[in-house]
Amino acid sequence: MHTGLRFRGAVAALAATALLGGCAPAGLDPQVTAHPEIPTSATPTPQGPGSLSPMPTDTPSPSPPPHVSPSPSPSGSTPAPDPGGSETPPDGQGLVPGSNHIASAAGYVHPAATVQGWLKGESLPTEKVVFLTFDDGPNPVTTPIILAALRDADVHATFFVLGNQLAQAPDVLLRTLEEGNSINLHSWSHDYGYLYPKRHANADRIEDEYLRTVAEVRRIVGDDFDTQGWRYPGGHMSWKSLGDADARLAAHGVSWIDWNADTRDSAPKASRPTTVDQIVANATEPIRQGMRVAVVLGHDTREKKLTADSVSSIIAAYKAAGYTFGVIS
Ligand SMILES: [Zn+2]
Repeated sequence: MHTGLRFRGAVAALAATALLGGCAPAGLDPQVTAHPEIPTSATPTPQGPGSLSPMPTDTPSPSPPPHVSPSPSPSGSTPAPDPGGSETPPDGQGLVPGSNHIASAAGYVHPAATVQGWLKGESLPTEKVVFLTFDDGPNPVTTPIILAALRDADVHATFFVLGNQLAQAPDVLLRTLEEGNSINLHSWSHDYGYLYPKRHANADRIEDEYLRTVAEVRRIVGDDFDTQGWRYPGGHMSWKSLGDADARLAAHGVSWIDWNADTRDSAPKASRPTTVDQIVANATEPIRQGMRVAVVLGHDTREKKLTADSVSSIIAAYKAAGYTFGVIS
């Protein structure tokens, strides 16, 4: 049973107050870069007021839950009329309570702990599966491009969102869920120096950013939201002394997850791809290596339009190689 998406009701509650203009230095490739770049400031850059009118955060939604079409309009902001007049959305189109996805995603959702086990080579699935993952969003520029590519190909992806980016694109976050993708968490600040002072994890700060970010997602999509997936900014493998932070997250039912394929869209500039073909070549390395499970890292920031423009080709390559598309819960 699901309660239906209360998604839209809370959107207007968000007032965009202080946003990062883009993302803090994005997920480096820790396998390649031994010393991650440390951001110079933890302070978000204030921008002008957001386009959404502030509303009390506890304003209930008087309207029925939105009808969520399997093929929403590109704007995604206008719920289609509900022919049944019911207040309950059709089966498969409501957020599963206590989850990070809608009911119709149940057939391709895999828990973060399971996928992390697969990355370690444990109990691999019988069929090939790829998880397209996008970090550092959402934003109103590239996230819609990625969503359109996914929708056109009728596949889904996993979005590791940043708390400090959510207020700029609440509608995009809603669409992401409504279209059958999953939302996982990637910290609030993405600030390496704050989260990992001297490269050692600060468990208090990491747990606090987990709590702040999950609360912010709930403010947008409703209290039914929960997730088991967390990606450490920079990747788990980049940092020291993570045991305490891992345990704190585990106490909330959360597992961290890294990746095993990288678009390299955030690599040092000298080695960063400059064409769609290069992005696709990097993202599809698991196909050539015959890997049964691929977790592909890409970034969803305004600066990464090349990544967004590559998604269709990445999907086509994995489809041609016989992979199914999973999302992480
Ligand atoms: Zn990141």
